[in-house]
Amino acid sequence: MNAMTPDANSAAERLVHVPLGERAYDILIGPGLIKRAGDEIAARLKGRKAAIITDVHVAPLYLDSLVASLERVGIQAATLVLPAGEKTKSFEHLMTVCDTVLGARIERNDAVIALGGGVIGDLAGFAAGVVRRGVRFVQVPTSLLSQVDSSVGGKTGINTHHGKNLVGVFHQPDLVLADTGVLDTLSEREFRAGYAEVAKYGLIDKPDFFAWLEANWQAVFAGGAERIEAIATSCRAKADVVVADERETGPRALLNLGHTFGHALEAATAYDSSRLVHGEGVAIGMVLAHEFSARLNLASPDDARRVEAHLKAVGLPTRMGDIPGALPPAETLMDAIAQDKKVKSGKLTFILTRGIGQSFIADDVPASEVLSFLKEKHPQ
Ligand code: NAD
Ligand code: MG
Repeated sequence: MNAMTPDANSAAERLVHVPLGERAYDILIGPGLIKRAGDEIAARLKGRKAAIITDVHVAPLYLDSLVASLERVGIQAATLVLPAGEKTKSFEHLMTVCDTVLGARIERNDAVIALGGGVIGDLAGFAAGVVRRGVRFVQVPTSLLSQVDSSVGGKTGINTHHGKNLVGVFHQPDLVLADTGVLDTLSEREFRAGYAEVAKYGLIDKPDFFAWLEANWQAVFAGGAERIEAIATSCRAKADVVVADERETGPRALLNLGHTFGHALEAATAYDSSRLVHGEGVAIGMVLAHEFSARLNLASPDDARRVEAHLKAVGLPTRMGDIPGALPPAETLMDAIAQDKKVKSGKLTFILTRGIGQSFIADDVPASEVLSFLKEKHPQ
């Protein structure tokens, strides 16, 4: 893997292009991008107005720097600072964002800028997709998860009492600026949670990348060249899947590796982030997906052990028993899985694997197999 070989230039910025025809865009990855955001935006967008949407954790750290950078190139920015956390992805806050964007007189060529993690990106992106039937949208993702996953691909949306992400639109960004330096202020736990999605790309179809992560994860956590490399490889992987299947009618589902079990665990813990955050659910889910594949004689149990060993080494939970507090019984977890959208006439759609980096979509997994597996793995 030449791309993974550290060299004299490896600390330099990376550019990942997402070739989606008239919706094509660039993802820039590297340190110091917020300070340069004005130049990068002005070079690509005609408008000279912007509305920056951010949250209370990110604003004190990076908002002034972004605003100043825009002002230097003559872009006037309105700002909106929202509460942090998943609850912000609501109709109520969507209304506030739309009001701010309209109040700032944002026209079609002007930009909504999301400065924050996936919560802000999903919400601001939704507003950008619907205000004036679509205005320009720039993602400045500040969490590892948003840099490697949510800022790429154009899915936007909010939650309702029926469930997560049920109302939204596809609206691709015009530019993604992933400033890798800002990850230094992210909590270790949030960084690890994002890392689960990084490892996921290796487990889907990049066995060499997974092996590289096993050898280099400490450097990825520490920052520097390896961090940029891991984020760029992840963005490339996500971009490839998105280009192949922009609206998730087929192969994009591979990105759900570990997510069916993970979502069930998130539901079982009532989305209480003090017990489980999304990436942690995905980590446990990916181990379960590998173990389940081994149980179905599709993959070697050694692969599941290898996945678990790596995720454990970085400090992620890997077992249901690692989640603090009691879990509902296996039957309840099974109900959550069955309510998931990936169910067709009694058979479940699952992302299974034939080994590290050999995931595939199976749409005929018997529910009874899943239930007995869950009973076996349940900590009680
Ligand atoms: P988040 O946006 O809640 O960010 C996590 C926490 O870190 C927040 O408290 C935030 O304020 C804080 N934070 C962010 N950047 C920081 C920084 N640089 N320094 C200090 N603190 C910082 O959560 P997330 O994990 O980034 O994103 C999760 C959301 O993303 C979920 O709502 C999920 O549904 C969504 N998502 C969307 C897609 C998609 O394709 N659209 C994909 C995956 C996830
Ligand atoms: Mg995910």
